[in-house]
Amino acid sequence: MTLDMRAMIKGLVDEIPVDGELCPDSPTGVTFDRAAHVCGRVTNEGGYMRLILEVEVPYTGECARCLCAVSGVFRMSYERTVVNEGTLSDEQLEDNVDEYVVIVDGELDLAEELRDALFLSFPMRLLCSEECAGLCPKCGKPRRDGPCSCAEREIDPRLAILATLLDENEEK
Ligand SMILES: [Zn+2]
Ligand SMILES: [Zn+2]
Repeated sequence: MTLDMRAMIKGLVDEIPVDGELCPDSPTGVTFDRAAHVCGRVTNEGGYMRLILEVEVPYTGECARCLCAVSGVFRMSYERTVVNEGTLSDEQLEDNVDEYVVIVDGELDLAEELRDALFLSFPMRLLCSEECAGLCPKCGKPRRDGPCSCAEREIDPRLAILATLLDENEEK
């Protein structure tokens, strides 16, 4: 994921297309089924350069509540202002890590930036559905498979209130 930016720096082109693949690190418990597809462009906006990318990667993981397999395609937009090295001070860059990418020796290396961005924006918890009711805490049967034989009535009603509170806390 390295772009040759020299033609744009010299003013020879106003647009550099991006179409490539990236092997990202997957968060714990998640598998990326193949390399992420990265496409977009860098454009010269007259005085500054703008990078606009779409990243797409298919994943497999498990539902945080019922542990069933969850798969889908994760998509992320990535936009940055592109600056040549030396344009901004280290301090300015550190204060605005989410705003700039820096050209070094005429090249823009996006691999690490994209890996980090993807890792950070990937959902912390995957759910098979927003309504997933999880597992029965007693027998472990997924609640979506219907009621199990563990009677809810066995729970002391005072404890049941506590359990509800705990559940609510977990949702936050
Ligand atoms: Zn689930
Ligand atoms: Zn049960």
